Amino acid sequence: MYEEENVVVEEEVFEDETLVCKECGNEFVFTAGEKQFYKEKGFVNKPKCCKPCRDARKNADRAPREVFETVCAECGGVAKVNFQPSSDRPVYCKACFDARRNG
Ligand SMILES: [Zn+2]
Ligand SMILES: [Zn+2]
Repeated sequence: MYEEENVVVEEEVFEDETLVCKECGNEFVFTAGEKQFYKEKGFVNKPKCCKPCRDARKNADRAPREVFETVCAECGGVAKVNFQPSSDRPVYCKACFDARRNG
């Protein structure tokens, strides 16, 4: 005696789905490929934002700070700093800055 099991192999079919971005309100397509990717990664939530917004957010997280170019007070070369250079404070390029710090 054996019980016959009715095993239904569910072949999951992924279809493109149009979602609305929570960030910009634009519609975007959550593609079948992305769905499969999400599934494989174990993500249960659908993306809330369209790709441009997601990318923008990702970039914002690790965005390089604004870089200002000015003239090095030491060698006259280009000094790149991540703050607004003020005229009352000498700014040095990296080489000169390091040299001063180490010397
Ligand atoms: Zn968006
Ligand atoms: Zn310099």
